[in-house]
Amino acid sequence: MDRKHRVVVAGGGFGGLCAAQSFKRAPVGVTLIDRRKFHLFQPLLYQVATGSLSPANVASLLRAVLKRQKKVQVLLGEVIDFDPQNRKIVLNGDEIQYDTLIVATGVPAYNVVVEDDDIKIETP
Ligand SMILES: Cc1cc2nc3c(=O)[nH]c(=O)nc-3n(C[C@H](O)[C@H](O)[C@H](O)COP(=O)(O)OP(=O)(O)OC[C@H]3O[C@@H](n4cnc5c(N)ncnc54)[C@H](O)[C@@H]3O)c2cc1C
Repeated sequence: MDRKHRVVVAGGGFGGLCAAQSFKRAPVGVTLIDRRKFHLFQPLLYQVATGSLSPANVASLLRAVLKRQKKVQVLLGEVIDFDPQNRKIVLNGDEIQYDTLIVATGVPAYNVVVEDDDIKIETP
């Protein structure tokens, strides 16, 4: 029996969600993995910090966001390694095989400090 092409998406931020939703009409099975069970809408974090929104207003459960996407399975797990030779993604306590891997785990924030002619990049 033919098995479905397995797409694994690491990260459920803007990039990962958009990627997972783009397979709506494709004959594939999609697994989206995130270490948090919710999608965080980062552009509204300032409003949370200043008290005009509550944290619940900017966080949506990934399973709820993707509930209409029957072919997308959401897994809670931290990606700790990639094994491209064996087409495996390594989680804390599990390994998942893929045919196609999409990495959308975001980037850390950096502070760029400009002093006179000097530019320093600092990790917060
Ligand atoms: C305060 C703030 C305001 C912003 N305002 C704007 C704006 O007005 N306009 C704009 O265009 N952009 C804005 N941005 C930037 C925008 O939010 C980011 O560019 C966007 O969220 C990046 O999307 P992403 O999918 O690449 O990563 P993220 O949204 O960071 O998603 C990454 C996902 O991967 C998961 N993840 C990370 N590592 C692992 C791991 N090892 N295992 C499993 N899961 C993992 C995380 O839990 C997360 O869900 C803002 C950002 C911030 C912080």
